[in-house]
Amino acid sequence: MNVTVSGRIEVIQGDITKQSVDAIVNAANNSLLGGGGVDGAIHRAAGPELLAECRKLKGCVTGEAEITRGYKLPAQSVIQTVGPVWKGGQYGEDDLLANCYRNSLALAAKHGIKTIAFPSISTGAYRFPVERASKIALTSIKNFLDKNASIEKVIMVCFSDEAYQCYARAMENLQIGKPRSGH
Ligand code: ADP
Repeated sequence: MNVTVSGRIEVIQGDITKQSVDAIVNAANNSLLGGGGVDGAIHRAAGPELLAECRKLKGCVTGEAEITRGYKLPAQSVIQTVGPVWKGGQYGEDDLLANCYRNSLALAAKHGIKTIAFPSISTGAYRFPVERASKIALTSIKNFLDKNASIEKVIMVCFSDEAYQCYARAMENLQIGKPRSGH
């Protein structure tokens, strides 16, 4: 097992629904009853049983995380988290976004998950600026991995080239390591 943080975080460009990892994280909304963007893509790929399980959870508070099964996804589990809606930066958005990553990883570790993929939470419909989000996401992931050895791999899955470039730059600026080449 690679225990250095640099080797355990990877940034790729791709579709999170295709990732063969123990768990993928969904950028859901408070109702957990499905939405657009990555949430819609995950529900479409997982099939209707995911929505049926989500209905039983009675929602999720912003910054917190819940776990469900992955159904038809290659990933066994889905960690449902809810990012903050960007309102200009004065409403605790940074901390709430960091909480999403930290709480998702803590829940994953509790369930023995070793490999996990995240989307760029809040940077779509919730309009969080992607450059700011990338620094918060990677710092929060790094801080968690520094204290936890059980999670072997965290993959940041960027959908757009713009997001990929942002996260790749943040990896280098935070000196976490180099992104995977040849994306
Ligand atoms: P939020 O409401 O948290 O902003 P969105 O789903 O609107 O969530 O966007 C979050 C990020 O997920 C955006 O960067 C968007 O481009 C990205 N995204 C959308 N579909 C996928 C997918 N299939 N795989 C990975 N990321 C995706």
